[in-house]
Amino acid sequence: MAQIENPFALERPLKLSICFTETCNLACQHCYSDCSPAKAGSELNGEEWSRFLDEIAELGVIYLYIEGGEPFHRPDFLPFLASASGRFLTEVRTNGTLITPQTARYLRDIRVGIVLVDLFSPRAEVHDEITGVSGSHARACDGIRSMLQAGIEVQTLCILNRKNVADLQGYIDLADELGVKTAGVLRPYPLGRMKYRWAEFALSLDEMHAALDALRLPSGMKLMQSWHPNDGNSCWQMAAVNAFGDSIGCAYLREYVNYGNIKRVSFMETWEHPLYRELRSGRVTDSCPSCASSQGSHGGCRATAYAFHGAWDAPDPFDKVLNRGVDLRVLPEWLLQPHPKPPTATT
Ligand code: SF4
Ligand code: SF4
Repeated sequence: MAQIENPFALERPLKLSICFTETCNLACQHCYSDCSPAKAGSELNGEEWSRFLDEIAELGVIYLYIEGGEPFHRPDFLPFLASASGRFLTEVRTNGTLITPQTARYLRDIRVGIVLVDLFSPRAEVHDEITGVSGSHARACDGIRSMLQAGIEVQTLCILNRKNVADLQGYIDLADELGVKTAGVLRPYPLGRMKYRWAEFALSLDEMHAALDALRLPSGMKLMQSWHPNDGNSCWQMAAVNAFGDSIGCAYLREYVNYGNIKRVSFMETWEHPLYRELRSGRVTDSCPSCASSQGSHGGCRATAYAFHGAWDAPDPFDKVLNRGVDLRVLPEWLLQPHPKPPTATT
């Protein structure tokens, strides 16, 4: 079959995502980063992050997406964010529990862009069971209220899974009640603790689509969803660095690739890594016409294509057009190994 490629190519990244820390005050059953309250390795320190900001500002990066772990859990996060927000358009993903009214006002003053807060369910008991911390739902909602009151744009995110699928409409309604105007529903990724509990969390593609199709959006509410990558978030334009300085292309590729460490080489050296170039090229064996026409990207998400097919150029099974009978409730055996490599891997 003829290979398909992205028509676009960037010489350098315009947007970049960083995982500021892999520590967190919560202990979610599904955490993609396998977070714990204490550091599990040698994270970049404040000075190293600051040097990295200088480096990417010089490259012309415009947009910086910051996640974790829980960024607000690291004591040096606020000064880092202030410095970043002075130079880039910033978005921060957080569990919301550490955002007090005073922090919210600080975020407004430093001109943070958008803050995205994870809500795993509209029901406190379900959310708290998933996070492992009683009261975390109430604190996340308080954090959202404080930020909205301070005038910050807040969006909510919900990873769709078996524990919350029946309450998906309730999640949208809660976001609306809180005053949020954009609510995200995200596909689950088989990463970190989630992959070891996949059978407990995963839904079939039909179950996920049925839940999405049944949603009734309140007036003025925008839904962001990640099944069909129509949100501009595609491999050809992504760059990401984890808490330890590894350049990984995208946070969802965290367990599969490492293009080099920015403590030792320049970011642009990692950008030129042959596998990174390959994934940005979008060479795939099969493509969804709608993504191709709206996004200029082909084949869907490389992270889930690789996870389920063990090949970088395979189609994304979370895409209805490209699924072709893959049961998303069942993970390939090799993916559960400590350093997952598909049996036929060549890279
Ligand atoms: S809040 Fe996020 S970073 Fe923290 S444990 Fe849960 S999933 Fe992991
Ligand atoms: S791996 Fe998936 S989530 Fe990451 S940039 Fe590519 S399409 Fe987006």
